[in-house]
Amino acid sequence: MRQRIAVVGSGPGGLAFARVLHRHGCSATVLERDPAPDARPPGGTLDLHQGLGQLALEKAGLLAEFQALSRPEGQAMRILDTDGTVLRDWRPRPGERANPEIDRGQLRDLLLGTLDVQWGRGVTRVVPGTPDGVLVHFADGRQETFDLVVGADGAWSRVRPAVSPATPHYTGVTSVETSLDDVDTRHPGLARLTGDGSVAVYGANRSLVAQRNSGGHVKVYARFRAPLDWHTGLDPADAEAVRASLLALFDGWAEPVLDLLRHGTAFVHRPLYVLPVSHTWTHVPGVTLLGDAAHLMPPLGAGANLAMLEGAELAESIAAGPDDPDEAVRAFEETMWARAGRWAQITTAGLERLVSPDPAEALAVFDRVQPS
Ligand SMILES: Cc1cc2nc3c(=O)[nH]c(=O)nc-3n(C[C@H](O)[C@H](O)[C@H](O)COP(=O)(O)OP(=O)(O)OC[C@H]3O[C@@H](n4cnc5c(N)ncnc54)[C@H](O)[C@@H]3O)c2cc1C
Repeated sequence: MRQRIAVVGSGPGGLAFARVLHRHGCSATVLERDPAPDARPPGGTLDLHQGLGQLALEKAGLLAEFQALSRPEGQAMRILDTDGTVLRDWRPRPGERANPEIDRGQLRDLLLGTLDVQWGRGVTRVVPGTPDGVLVHFADGRQETFDLVVGADGAWSRVRPAVSPATPHYTGVTSVETSLDDVDTRHPGLARLTGDGSVAVYGANRSLVAQRNSGGHVKVYARFRAPLDWHTGLDPADAEAVRASLLALFDGWAEPVLDLLRHGTAFVHRPLYVLPVSHTWTHVPGVTLLGDAAHLMPPLGAGANLAMLEGAELAESIAAGPDDPDEAVRAFEETMWARAGRWAQITTAGLERLVSPDPAEALAVFDRVQPS
């Protein structure tokens, strides 16, 4: 009998899972809370690593399309001192494709293709072990049962409680995002500062990173150590008030760097939460997790890559038609836990060093990753 498979969430992990299953002639019901693919801004740019995100795209048969869309020049990275001195200026060699960038929206559309996603289907709870399988409760009060439910529903997963009591905790680092449009025409100085890829400035316990997306769009991330309630008394919707508080926080930094904040449009507050490093659980038949739902970690270039590869690998092992599908899920979980545990350690240590009292720590991280 054909397995009834659902994946909750149409982020990079859920879509990679559904897409690879589809490629092998199987299908999954994709349940997504958002009412439509463009219901909210898709977010910034992602670098997809060879051997992780790019491998997942290869498994999905989408690598050539990715190569046509992605921006290898986006791998360029410049590091400045807070007084504006250029400390490092790294550019990829011609043909360098280790970590090209792609806009999140472009990646979503690539993975979506003709997949049939059920939009507006927010899951509230998952109950394994009922006589008819795994019972899924929806926000509109409806219920449905499946043989396998894959929780790819991100940081605040509603599937996770079915397998684990873990919940994300605050890292002590907050990120406030803003963006600049049409940067080459409207802000040519900031376009030059950002270059083809990213510019990062590290100070004591704070950093500013600007990343070029396609179409002249630049995302700016201000990261700093602060208590969760740092913005008490500040209306997050009041862009001018947030801008003023950020300019005060980064006071004394070089003027061209502060212009990234002065010209930013709306500000989005994103405190950084993580799950415990090496989060695992006792296997529950019929339910599993992947991506941020399983191993939320600091956003340092690994999360989407891992989610996609996990989605692709789980789909391949299910499509291989094992005698016992549950055994395939168990084996998948062991592989995921080992690999994600390593990345969680790397990114947790990375965040400590990139938002550190000693900015030289951040430079040392860059020099290890990107030796000249
Ligand atoms: C600023 C920033 C930059 C980053 N840069 C990178 C990078 O360069 N490279 C990289 O690899 N990673 C990066 N990451 C991390 C990456 O974004 C995440 O790790 C990745 O998106 C996780 O994918 P996912 O599919 O597990 O979950 P998500 O992308 O969070 O997708 C979850 C999906 O589930 C849906 N959903 C949620 N709850 C429900 C529900 N109850 N019912 C139904 N649907 C639901 C959501 O609407 C969403 O569509 C970055 C993160 C941030 C914040």
